[in-house]
Amino acid sequence: MVGAAHLMAGNTAGPELQVSPLENTQYIHAKQGEHWCATQEQWDLKKESLVDLSDRYKAGCPTEGMCDFPANRDATQMESLTINVVVHVMRDGSGNGGVSESTVWDSINEMNFDYANNGTGLQFQVSEIQFHNDDAYDEISAYSYSGKYAQDIAGMKAKYAVNPTQYLNIYVSAQKQGRLGVLLGIGTFPWDADALTAQGGLWMNNIAMGAGGKTMSHEMGHCLGLWHTHHGVSEVTSCADCYEFASGQEGDIRGDFADDTPPTPTNYNCSAPGGTDCQGTSWGATQPENIMGYGPDTCLSYLSPKQARRVQCWTKDALAGLVGGGGTGNLPPSASFTVSTNLLNASFNASGSNDPDGNIVSYAWNFGDNSSGSGVTTNHAYASAGTYNVTLTVTDNDGATNTTSQSVSVNDGTGDVTPPVISNVSSASTGGRNFRISWTTDEPADSVVIFTGSAPFSDSNLVTEHSMSFRGSRNVSYEYSVQSTDASGNTSTAGPFVHNN
Ligand SMILES: [Zn+2]
Repeated sequence: MVGAAHLMAGNTAGPELQVSPLENTQYIHAKQGEHWCATQEQWDLKKESLVDLSDRYKAGCPTEGMCDFPANRDATQMESLTINVVVHVMRDGSGNGGVSESTVWDSINEMNFDYANNGTGLQFQVSEIQFHNDDAYDEISAYSYSGKYAQDIAGMKAKYAVNPTQYLNIYVSAQKQGRLGVLLGIGTFPWDADALTAQGGLWMNNIAMGAGGKTMSHEMGHCLGLWHTHHGVSEVTSCADCYEFASGQEGDIRGDFADDTPPTPTNYNCSAPGGTDCQGTSWGATQPENIMGYGPDTCLSYLSPKQARRVQCWTKDALAGLVGGGGTGNLPPSASFTVSTNLLNASFNASGSNDPDGNIVSYAWNFGDNSSGSGVTTNHAYASAGTYNVTLTVTDNDGATNTTSQSVSVNDGTGDVTPPVISNVSSASTGGRNFRISWTTDEPADSVVIFTGSAPFSDSNLVTEHSMSFRGSRNVSYEYSVQSTDASGNTSTAGPFVHNN
């Protein structure tokens, strides 16, 4: 069958496309250590559920849209485009774990370098980094045949996606180690029906984040329409219609649809893989430095000119809503509050809450004793001593909400009724992007540092010491308060203060 026929958009399974369903399973069930990115199998699983498309994909090289046609790709005008990004970092319910804000920036900067350095014209602008304290999603299930990990990621996306028609959401979490290894990332292809829904975007494993890591660049390649460079060999039926021969024959309409990425089997080395194609022809020189291959991070640096045109074409064709620089979609607010107590009376202050692209229009309080209130500041008198879980929900001018909770203890005056006195609050650089906030209290107390607006990374929110260390971003001012609670539940707050990092 000649290649041109493969490029009929909407082509469905024909007699020439018959293939055994078993032939395609070797990469779905990858061996330990061979697992790098699950994009291919996620795509396959979706295709498997669409019976009519399954066989078509396995045997041929079906086009998924106009940008698969070489002529359309090559006619794409290269422009400078900015894609709007929101990053979600998962931590456990206590705020531990996850990656730091600076690690997120290291990955974003690495990706922006790769996409600039290879002439794609694309850059990624982070509109917001959100930290989510959530035991359900800070560490997803181990990679397994059951697909539980995929359900976890789907749940994470459903819960936290921000305006997926206008922001490409990047989710960062840990994954449990399983006997099949771990996944480093999963991107959603732009032709996928989920691409601009809450189920689109990109998931990254914590361990693949940071300077020098290439996984984010690779997964973003998938999001923007790039296949693996080994797609035409290791991910399709051998010698069938989509197979890329060592000769390079019809390289623009087979495999990854780019004939300036030489055909190659899956290769984890920064050198030619050796071996031969299905006809016994030596592979010869391949392109192990291609970011869409599986070479080591230290090797990956290159996207080809046709890959660059492909990502431009797919971005403008399928993902145009994500382009603009800053976006016009609403970003949700961030809820934060401090509390001071005096006997059974508690005073709450939510002025530390903020909205990155608008303003907060309502503050809803649940005082934890079946009563509620409203307002940026509010007071509440409890009927009896105890510890109450107080919840604040803020709503911004576009109707988006965010909620935060704190335990608040009050006493009835029969014991210790004096809150701790907080003094000597100061901050100082401890080298690089690290800084320490210090304070003293006049009695033993548990203390928490509460940030307003952008927050740095820390290992723990609650400390019993009189200082706490943070790692933040350069040239950022952090506004914070210190809140201390003594053993009797008396609470006081000092601040706000500002640390210029
Ligand atoms: Zn991949």
